[in-house]
Amino acid sequence: MGDPLAYPPLHSAEHLLTSLLEERLPALSGYEARLKSRKCVMEFDHPTPLTEADIAPIGEAMTAAIAADWPVTIDAIPRAKASHLPNLDEIPADLDPVRVVTIGAYPRACRGQHVARTGEMRGFRITRFAPVANSRYRLNFAVD
Ligand SMILES: [Zn+2]
Repeated sequence: MGDPLAYPPLHSAEHLLTSLLEERLPALSGYEARLKSRKCVMEFDHPTPLTEADIAPIGEAMTAAIAADWPVTIDAIPRAKASHLPNLDEIPADLDPVRVVTIGAYPRACRGQHVARTGEMRGFRITRFAPVANSRYRLNFAVD
């Protein structure tokens, strides 16, 4: 995950977009993100070629989630009950309980600052998607 102290609509968009990318591209790995002001640059590896046509449906899923104004909920759960989280390996092993942020149907362990509802991620748009190296891709997005 990117900087947890980032602008909440930007961090929340990165958070949900990461969940959607992992869901739709399960072979994705090596994820990194840089957040600055109202823009984010993500990079990740993917073993098979990807084009803008592969990413467009994920952008559409983001737009639909924002239009649906899903609630964002924050809970603390015992680590022993957190094995369903897709990113538990990113959390320090001695951290218990685990802070879980759920956006719609997508829970993640996260310490970031979030919007209360997805509708607050106004102006979300993917501005660029392109390969940067062998099997590595860069996705730029912005919010208002
Ligand atoms: Zn988050």
